[in-house]
Amino acid sequence: MRVVVTGGAGFIGANLCKQLLADGDEVVVLDDLSTGDRRNLEGLHVELHEGSILDRNALDQVLPGADSVVHLAALVSVPWSVEDPFDNHARNATGTLEVLMAARRAGVDHVVVASSAAVYGANPELPKHERMAVAPMTPYAVSKVATEEYAIAFAHCYAMRTIAFRFFNVFGPLQPADHAYAAVIPAFVDAAVAGRALPLEGDGSQTRDFIYVGTVARVLAEAVHRGVSHLEPVNLALGGRTSLKELIAEIERGLGRPVEIDRRPARVGDVPHSQADATSLKTLFPDVEPVPIEQGLRETVQWF
Ligand code: NAD
Repeated sequence: MRVVVTGGAGFIGANLCKQLLADGDEVVVLDDLSTGDRRNLEGLHVELHEGSILDRNALDQVLPGADSVVHLAALVSVPWSVEDPFDNHARNATGTLEVLMAARRAGVDHVVVASSAAVYGANPELPKHERMAVAPMTPYAVSKVATEEYAIAFAHCYAMRTIAFRFFNVFGPLQPADHAYAAVIPAFVDAAVAGRALPLEGDGSQTRDFIYVGTVARVLAEAVHRGVSHLEPVNLALGGRTSLKELIAEIERGLGRPVEIDRRPARVGDVPHSQADATSLKTLFPDVEPVPIEQGLRETVQWF
């Protein structure tokens, strides 16, 4: 198949490209390299177009002839979305609409889009079920609600096959640890491998539903290959709960030595627990074999 991956030079995108190539697909990437990096695609036989999803000409160049689009391009920094909601809205909400409209113009009728567990926001109910009320707390989360709702509306209005995944805490190789808002796993692993103390905010009892990027790539690739569509968003997580303390113990096992902890106050507004109801994912993708978290962590430690 010919698959277009927007944001394909980013963390999840480049891991997906690798999976699609291994599955024998032809891969075209559209990425403005704002947070992505062409080095993430080094050695991969992909056609990289440097350009923005907000540029219609760029979209009209890459989409014709594609069998499917996986739309991952977005501004992923929640703090930046608070700083500059217009930029966030343009890239994440308008950007998604541009990709969907361009797919229509090009006659591409299957589009996969990336939403986020951030849409659950202030709703404290656990586990997070797709039919729960969304309660976005940031411009980023609002733009992700728009992303998934546009994808579903295009299925209703134009009979396009679409599916919107709510990614939970994705981790793995190519996830950068070197910026201010790095996710917890790359921040921990980077510090541990370098022999620095791990920056732990709070007491470490907070839990997250971590999912290894290799598992995410397998699910996305299968959605493409089988042309899966769904009229409701789908949580992309396994329904597990790993505490930060457990995570640290696992990193110590992976390294074969104890690590030091740099204890910091809990972050204001940090949710204590996040866990997905994974029923919908498991029903739609019964054959995807998830990479166990421990194995994913070992592969992440090796990558650093
Ligand atoms: P990333 O920053 O590594 O990837 C995003 C990519 O999009 C980058 O390569 C960036 O250069 C590109 N991009 C940004 N604006 C663009 C534009 N206007 N035109 C073209 N390309 C543009 O982040 P990621 O973690 O790989 O995220 C991929 C997707 O998954 C995003 O939509 C993000 O919101 C979503 N997501 C990720 C997580 C996670 O845990 N990493 C969680 C929830 C949702």
